[in-house]
Amino acid sequence: MPRRPTGARVAASSTWTDPDGVRMPAGDVHGWLPGTNQTVCGIPLSRASLARFPHVAWPDVDPATGAHADAVGHVCPRCRGALRPREGRERRSVPRRP
Ligand SMILES: [Zn+2]
Repeated sequence: MPRRPTGARVAASSTWTDPDGVRMPAGDVHGWLPGTNQTVCGIPLSRASLARFPHVAWPDVDPATGAHADAVGHVCPRCRGALRPREGRERRSVPRRP
């Protein structure tokens, strides 16, 4: 079973700048893992002209929960599925096995 990616950031087709002067994702949004040059769903960032947002955590752009989702037009369903938080699958906390 493949390891579930953690610590994902954001790649997006557009950019806006919030009132604090911080670059924020807009438009089509994908998950991105720092150190890679493609999205979580496999799109090369350069070919698709996607900008990286290493300072924006993936959960922040989820329109349901995120703090930076105002300008997000579309969240990639494949990235979303791959990066779904564990809380979405299991409500109760399960003791970690050694
Ligand atoms: Zn994607």
